[in-house]
Amino acid sequence: MNTRQLFDQNTWTYTYLVWDEMTREAAIIDPVREKFERDRQYIQDLGLDLKYVFETHVHADHITGAGLLRDAFGARVAVHRDGGTQCADIQIEDEDVFLLGRQIITALHTPGHTNGDVTYAIQGALFTGDALLIRACGRTDFQQGDSGRLYDSISKLFTWPDTTIVYPGHDYNGFTSSTIGEEKRLNPRLGNSKPREDFVNIMENLDLPKPGLIDVAVPGNLVCGNVQ
Ligand code: FE
Repeated sequence: MNTRQLFDQNTWTYTYLVWDEMTREAAIIDPVREKFERDRQYIQDLGLDLKYVFETHVHADHITGAGLLRDAFGARVAVHRDGGTQCADIQIEDEDVFLLGRQIITALHTPGHTNGDVTYAIQGALFTGDALLIRACGRTDFQQGDSGRLYDSISKLFTWPDTTIVYPGHDYNGFTSSTIGEEKRLNPRLGNSKPREDFVNIMENLDLPKPGLIDVAVPGNLVCGNVQ
């Protein structure tokens, strides 16, 4: 599988384009609405057949480009069923499998940041959205977030081999990827076998400001970004 990491500088969001070399069948993970034209042109330039738009969750910090890409390429939008997006073509359930040519994408339900987070497992890499970030994790204080559930989800990801690449949904420090081994050892919130109650305690005391775009982004994403 080919993988390209794309960046939205306004919201620090990573978008990923993956495709099968032989069939040119492609999927995009977490596109940003403002970057629609960049993504459309890139997919066209590479001669790809965009089959899927995968969301890792209903985002609170940017509006998705899913609806626009669906219209442009006839792709199908996939979101976890607990996300509550009626606009999605596919309501994902845990361990759903998707194919690009002979390449396999497995959707893993990893809730906790929201109730409908999905991590996509693609050939030795995990696209973790905001569940597991590099040396951090997604916040759990809105959108049905739950620290205990997030601990369990990340613990599940930590059972993958140490060499598994971690591609997060955001990074605010300039990192682009990590590995499961690195995060197991170095993640300050739950690495080094930190107990569940310690993690919950850290998450409950983060005292973060409300995301600026949440009141616009969440309703916008529930309609796949098809906003005026
Ligand atoms: Fe998020």
